[in-house]
Amino acid sequence: MNGTDKTREQLIEENDQLKDRITSLEKAVLDFDHYYSIFKGANDGIICFDKGLRVLDVNPAFVEMTGISKDEIIGKSGFSLAKQFIGIKDLPRILNKLRKMFLDEPIELYELNFEDKVLGISTHKQINGQRVAIIRDITKSKKAERELKKLSTAVEQSANTIVITNIDGDIEYTNPKFTDITGYTAAEALGQNLRILNSGSQPKEYYTEMWKTLSKGKIWKGEFHNKSKEGRFFWENVTITPIKDDKGVITNYLAVKEDITEKKAAEQALKDSEDRFRQLSNVSFEGTLIHRKGIAIDFNLSLARMFGYEREELLGTNLIEKIIPKEYHKTISENINKNYADPYEIIGKRKDGSTFYVEIESRYIHIDSDDSIRATAIRDISERKSAERELLKAKERTEESEKRFRELFEKSGDPILIIENGNFTDCNQATVDLLKYSSKDDILNLHPSILSPDLQPDGRKSTEKANEMMEIALENGTNRFEWDHKKSNGEVFPVEVLLTAISNEHNMVVIHVVWRDITVRKKAESDLVRALKKAEESDQLKSAFLANMSHEIRTPMNGILGFSELLKEPGLSGDEKNNYISVIEQSGERMLNTINDLIEMSKLEAGQMYVSITEVNVKKQLEYIYNFFKPEVDKKGLQFSLSTNTSGSDISIKTDEEKLYGILTNLVKNAIKYTEAGSIEFGYHEKDNYIEFFVEDTGIGIPPDQQQSIFERFFQADMTKSRAYEGAGLGLAITKANVELLGGRIRVESKEGKGSTFYFTIPA
Ligand code: ADP
Repeated sequence: MNGTDKTREQLIEENDQLKDRITSLEKAVLDFDHYYSIFKGANDGIICFDKGLRVLDVNPAFVEMTGISKDEIIGKSGFSLAKQFIGIKDLPRILNKLRKMFLDEPIELYELNFEDKVLGISTHKQINGQRVAIIRDITKSKKAERELKKLSTAVEQSANTIVITNIDGDIEYTNPKFTDITGYTAAEALGQNLRILNSGSQPKEYYTEMWKTLSKGKIWKGEFHNKSKEGRFFWENVTITPIKDDKGVITNYLAVKEDITEKKAAEQALKDSEDRFRQLSNVSFEGTLIHRKGIAIDFNLSLARMFGYEREELLGTNLIEKIIPKEYHKTISENINKNYADPYEIIGKRKDGSTFYVEIESRYIHIDSDDSIRATAIRDISERKSAERELLKAKERTEESEKRFRELFEKSGDPILIIENGNFTDCNQATVDLLKYSSKDDILNLHPSILSPDLQPDGRKSTEKANEMMEIALENGTNRFEWDHKKSNGEVFPVEVLLTAISNEHNMVVIHVVWRDITVRKKAESDLVRALKKAEESDQLKSAFLANMSHEIRTPMNGILGFSELLKEPGLSGDEKNNYISVIEQSGERMLNTINDLIEMSKLEAGQMYVSITEVNVKKQLEYIYNFFKPEVDKKGLQFSLSTNTSGSDISIKTDEEKLYGILTNLVKNAIKYTEAGSIEFGYHEKDNYIEFFVEDTGIGIPPDQQQSIFERFFQADMTKSRAYEGAGLGLAITKANVELLGGRIRVESKEGKGSTFYFTIPA
């Protein structure tokens, strides 16, 4: 089929199609016109590129925005354009980006810094493959955005809670701090009314007042006691600012809130502590006062009480004038002027006019940068003052008594010393005199042992014992003991020492020492001991004597009486009679001896022995005695010899012949009596100005401890043995007394079981 064969229907259809085309063309032209006017009038810069990305056209906004003229740009490739207008530094990155934008996926908005502007570029691919780039100058909005970002960061990160509400108080915005403090997340808070935080502890009027201020468009500042989501209470310092629109209509409220819970707690703590301090200050005994030039700003109750006022009577008044007598005002103001800060004493005046001592201590304090305020402490020191007066009196009394003590110390007849740290540091004159030194200086600073012999009577070292005695005194307070001291001439003498620990004026413990010279007492004591011993001995001797006497008298008496009776027997032979008679004679003789001894002894005791001196031929005397005793010695079977002067010449001495005879007879008689075997020898030796007689035997001997006692009356070496040897124990006592009457001495040398030698001297 060809065109001529077209049916009417076909033609109508074609015509309709053409009409449609014309209509669509018209529409296209209209569209183009429409879009072109948009293109021309748009605020955004528009660049149209062909498929090869060459610039087809730019609109006036582009020219205005970039300052690039149409001629400069049309026909150029997008990339060369970029090269031309974009700084070399960013070029590769940007080119890459642009290439991607144009060739691949178009990107919504690409920001590009161009000169001092920020341009937002978006690209669009058209159906025919051409591209359009729309460029918007977003410099301003970018800046605003940055500013906003800064602000919102500030708001978001603020340490304060920031809340924005609408005019009804419904929350529109909260920052993270809000969540921290209240526990509500931003989402939870949104749309809620701010009163969800109300703790209910503040009166309704408080909020009414707030709304009144805010609704007038004024800023309101205050504090909220709020409650968190978890029920925790907290304090906030709040500033609420109404936000108004251009017309001045309030659209929102901005609340900036600071959590002051801790600050509040600290303030409360401070207040509590101030309260406590005030109460403390009121109960203290010290008056405290804060004043400016004497005018009381504050003071405690103790101060009012101290001066007899009510608090109200003093507040705001010039305190100095009230509580200090006029005559001291000058001192006070001087002290204030020179900022005198040490305590000083002054007189205070009570309301009733009475005065008393006070101590004032005062200094400037700085309160609210005011430098004229002084803090003053006032103490009632009347008691201290009177105590001081008492102390002074006591001190005077002490000094007086010290003086008296010193006098006593110096004048005491007994030596008194003071020991400090083990040495004598003081002593009186009596000490110096007793020790026979010339001055105190010879004694002071010496240890007690230096004024003592090395050893004490108990054998202990003086140094050690002295230290021990001092220690005991310090421990027990006192110590009394006997001590040997030594005088300057070396003479040792006993003292009784009394040590007393006392504290001296420096409160140091020292030892007060008193000595009492007990030489006389000691001697008396030892005399007494000796006397006592002697008395005891005498007592024993007396008993022994009585026993002896009874024996010595009874024995011969019995002999006499017994044998006299026997003589009466008829028919006795002559021998028998002679025997009896000789026993009677011997017994009589023995009794006579005893009686003679007794008489002689009592004469000696009574001091009635007299000496009659004659020229005595010694040899003759001795020979007489020898001959007299020879038969008796022979009878006992002993050797008997007389040893006389070797020269053989007779010597004569002036003495009592009868007594010398008695002495010798007695000694020889004893020798015979106490010797059973061996020999007896007696004689004399001539010495310078005396003659020494001796009687030596080989008898029983005398134990060493009795060689002295045998010369005492009634003494027998062994009281039990005495029964074996007759005798009254008087012989040697009489002998000794007689030797001494003649001006001589008697002694014995003896060994038990070996024999004894008695020596006695007679002056020539
Ligand atoms: P008495 O009458 O007991 O002999 P004396 O006074 O003559 O008294 O002697 C005192 C004591 O001395 C004697 O009892 C005896 O113990 C002792 N005595 C004296 N002479 C001797 C001596 N030659 N040998 C041993 N003992 C003696």
